[in-house]
Amino acid sequence: MTLIDTHCHLYVEEFRNDVEQVLSNARQAGVERIYLPAIDSTEHDVLLQLEQAHPEICIAMMGLHPCYVKENYEEELRKVEDWLGRRKFAAVGEIGLDFYWDRNYDAQQYEAFRRQLELAKQYRIPVSIHSRNATLECIKEVKALQDGGLSGVFHCFSGSYELAKEVVKLGFYLGIGGVVTYKNGGLPEVLKHIPLEHIVLETDAPYLSPVPYRGKRNQPAYLTPITEKLSDIYGVSPEEIGAITTANANRLFQYHPASIAK
Ligand SMILES: [Zn+2]
Repeated sequence: MTLIDTHCHLYVEEFRNDVEQVLSNARQAGVERIYLPAIDSTEHDVLLQLEQAHPEICIAMMGLHPCYVKENYEEELRKVEDWLGRRKFAAVGEIGLDFYWDRNYDAQQYEAFRRQLELAKQYRIPVSIHSRNATLECIKEVKALQDGGLSGVFHCFSGSYELAKEVVKLGFYLGIGGVVTYKNGGLPEVLKHIPLEHIVLETDAPYLSPVPYRGKRNQPAYLTPITEKLSDIYGVSPEEIGAITTANANRLFQYHPASIAK
């Protein structure tokens, strides 16, 4: 079994004491690569240190998370821009809009999202999009800038079939994680009508653990129950889910070990 975790915050405090064990669990589950989305500059160092310690499995993104767009967002964006100019990253992420939490910085969130979409085009790398309560708004922003030069994933996708279709039309992938295993979620019904070619796997660890680990700390090895759920939905073996979503992730990130080497 081969799996890729396309969105995992493995560098945060929750993993500080046992990251080696968590990585060993991941390898045992077949996880061969883990993509690390950035949040803001307070965590750039730990993120890049983790990548440096495990370059064969951990790959960094760079970006400013919409929940961390505050008064100092200009300064934060300058840091992101600076890093992108200095070395290769897998993607600009995570970026987007979050209208669930703080609504005081909507205008700044839009500004930060647009500028980071432009950076992705400039550096010809994909984006990892966070779109909580704002999936339609994020789709509109991507559409406005999509000239064939933008690619990426709507991380933690949990919207309607209509929204899923829009994402696919943009040439983007749906990032599917623990939410697909939750009861009363409508996601399995939506996915039945979306071909597997448009799906990548993610945990968003340490958050959003799949059933039967819901409420516990999430980790990349928990891609296994997510893969099993997708196997039920699509009626193909977990191995095939792994193979197809791995191929999708490789296409998305245009993964070549040499291109990541600094
Ligand atoms: Zn995230």
